[in-house]
Amino acid sequence: MSFVETAVDQDQTEVAEIRIDPITNHRSLFSKKSFRGNEVIIKFLAKNVLPAPTYLTVQISDSVHIELFPECLGCTNHSCEPNCFFDTTRMEFISLRPILEGEELTFFYPSAEWDMDRAFQCHCGSEQCLGLIKGARYLSEDRIGYYRFTDFIHQKLQAVKS
Ligand SMILES: [Zn+2]
Repeated sequence: MSFVETAVDQDQTEVAEIRIDPITNHRSLFSKKSFRGNEVIIKFLAKNVLPAPTYLTVQISDSVHIELFPECLGCTNHSCEPNCFFDTTRMEFISLRPILEGEELTFFYPSAEWDMDRAFQCHCGSEQCLGLIKGARYLSEDRIGYYRFTDFIHQKLQAVKS
């Protein structure tokens, strides 16, 4: 199976690329152009639909988890101070603030995951770092106010509150 290493928008402009760490083999996504805040980086599609989360999926509902296309978007790393967001209603990958060409693109995993398949210890280095990342259901009230969430996660958070 071929792996799409770059994301190309409708104008055939390369917007992002995978970089692979030669030592750890870890894949990360980097921007290939600059973006304003709240700009569509690229529209995405579901390559596969799965009933349960994996480390590559983004959550659409309780029982729908999608693998992303372009596939390289699946390599977007988590940050507790993210610069991107997956809008799963509009199916758009969005910049949360201005991004420079060559910056790593990151998103806050719990913004699109209620209860993650694999919790992990974050080392993003941001002052806001939460440490253990497990999913939106485990976030405190002040953290919930700090982040943007998908419509699905937002609804779940509202339901728990009421
Ligand atoms: Zn962190």
